[in-house]
Amino acid sequence: MNKLSRQELLDTLMAMKDIDVLCPKCQGWGSKTYSSTATWRGGIGGQVMTTDVCDKCWGSGDATKPWTDLRKLRYSRNTSPNPEPAPGDDSMEKSL
Ligand SMILES: [Zn+2]
Repeated sequence: MNKLSRQELLDTLMAMKDIDVLCPKCQGWGSKTYSSTATWRGGIGGQVMTTDVCDKCWGSGDATKPWTDLRKLRYSRNTSPNPEPAPGDDSMEKSL
């Protein structure tokens, strides 16, 4: 079996995920561990280490090609004239 060097392995994995520049926050994984259950949403959370989507690359693993910014998406939804809740999101009902 052909053994890959550490750099060859990293290059291969980055190519497979189409990553040009590794995200400095999650090192390309697209997810990271948050110190509370609040994760990228912020606010009050429980005292449990929680894995969720990276709040820098939003899951792409690439610092230069982030996927949809969930924080901005949530903000734009909450500030639009007629916000519609996302499927499975009951936070709108709680605020009424
Ligand atoms: Zn990231």
